[in-house]
Amino acid sequence: MIYDVAVIGAGVCGALIARNLSRFYLNVCVLEQESDVAMGTTRANSAIVHGGFDAKPGTLKAKLNVEGCGMMPELCGELHVPYRQNGSLVLAFDKEDVKHIHALYERGLVNGVKNLKLLNREELLKQEPNLSEKVLEALYAPSAGIVCPYELALAAIGNAMDNGVHLKLCFKVTGLSKEKEYFCISSENETVKARYVVNAAGLFADEIAKAAGEDGFFIAPRKGEYMLLDKAQGGLVNSTIFQCPSKMGKGILVTPTVDGNLLIGPTSENILDKTDSSTTQQGLEKVASTALKSVPGIQLRTVITSFAGLRACAEKEDFIIEPSKKLKGLIHVAGIESPGLSASPAIARYVMELLKREGISLKANPAFQAERRPLHHCRQMSMEMRNQLIQKEPRFGRVICRCEGITEGEIIEAIHKNPGATTLDGVKRRTRAGMGRCQGGFCTPSVIEILARELGISMEQVTKSGGGSRLLAGKCKAGECVK
Ligand SMILES: Cc1cc2nc3c(=O)[nH]c(=O)nc-3n(C[C@H](O)[C@H](O)[C@H](O)COP(=O)(O)OP(=O)(O)OC[C@H]3O[C@@H](n4cnc5c(N)ncnc54)[C@H](O)[C@@H]3O)c2cc1C
Repeated sequence: MIYDVAVIGAGVCGALIARNLSRFYLNVCVLEQESDVAMGTTRANSAIVHGGFDAKPGTLKAKLNVEGCGMMPELCGELHVPYRQNGSLVLAFDKEDVKHIHALYERGLVNGVKNLKLLNREELLKQEPNLSEKVLEALYAPSAGIVCPYELALAAIGNAMDNGVHLKLCFKVTGLSKEKEYFCISSENETVKARYVVNAAGLFADEIAKAAGEDGFFIAPRKGEYMLLDKAQGGLVNSTIFQCPSKMGKGILVTPTVDGNLLIGPTSENILDKTDSSTTQQGLEKVASTALKSVPGIQLRTVITSFAGLRACAEKEDFIIEPSKKLKGLIHVAGIESPGLSASPAIARYVMELLKREGISLKANPAFQAERRPLHHCRQMSMEMRNQLIQKEPRFGRVICRCEGITEGEIIEAIHKNPGATTLDGVKRRTRAGMGRCQGGFCTPSVIEILARELGISMEQVTKSGGGSRLLAGKCKAGECVK
């Protein structure tokens, strides 16, 4: 079979591009090297939908950020992905910062950001009483919001699959060449043919380009470390709180998450290894001390986990979204560092324009379903609705993750609904089982048991996140451990 389009990479960009393609009569596949969707940069970032005042006017970053921010509420509504327009603040602590936020204000106006405002100290502390008393002024962007990035990617791919897109996981693209009419995209074991290819491979987009014989850009990883705090701290701030940005990024923020936790970070460190998402004592200390400067009341003893994400940085200070200079029909979506999540709906729309210019024929599919039925979230239901659901399916009454209140019914649904979870982390990202205060200490064995039963595999075959990340070594007889 020859696909019309193959999308390489199932991060938020690839996912939304695939969903857009599924609006048309096209055979589309998404090729992803990992065992699940959203395992690259989309897995670990600040999750902010930026207003769009930061990027240099005239760049794709500026244009697509503002457009993407405007598209996000409707998109999240259609896909039933949690989104909250909580606004963002950039704080000024001295005269230099004040100059900086005034310049950002002007830039925001040029970029077309709506309702930007400069707030004085009194207005600011009235709006956010837990900010440092040392703050002088702030730039307020009411259009900014927060979203769950991996839920957005999962929902977009799920919706694309429901509309006919094929997802091939564990397909690491190692070769890309063009015959007369179509591309051959190969992994170690398989070759897929497609008339058009979208390279949305994040940190590895330069390697895909290289495989196609191009060396026009280079992607370097820049690490950002974070700490996630318990929900007890989630109400400390309402908006997302930034300090002044620098060349290395938007700085360390303090923000509520859509799930009600408090997130602080990220650091910004150029590294060499595109797979190194470890956290460091030094990095986390920097996160803590900088976050405390903005919000002194943060209780660090309530940190429940730490993690790191890698930005995909290009030399050029802009997104690289363009047709290949060598192969007609290949589109690169590369260098998608922040604000790539915010811009992602607009990036996906822009890619459709580029594909049209490359000659693709787009005939609307009237059967396209924009709405995706969400998974059940029992914790958000009234007692009456819950009881009705339990009457139909008693497994919605068996709580597996006590911290987050996640039931067996929800886990089973996450395993069987497109794109189905096959790993412990896959269940965690879809349902939040294991994301609470105990970080899976209580529910992990039960989730492994459910995964094994539903997938028809042994418990020893269940992995944390695919590959060799096995969780169990073997069975224990009473009092005796098997190696
Ligand atoms: C620390 C940090 C903070 C950030 N904060 C924000 C923020 O608050 N707001 C914002 O708007 N943006 C933010 N970003 C940026 C945002 O996260 C990214 O722009 C976005 O997630 C990029 O998505 P993507 O789909 O391009 O890449 P990815 O999510 O990396 O997806 C690429 C996919 O391609 C796959 N792949 C790679 N190579 C191959 C191959 N050879 N074969 C098959 N598949 C392959 C990968 O496994 C991956 O799944 C942040 C990023 C970081 C790191």
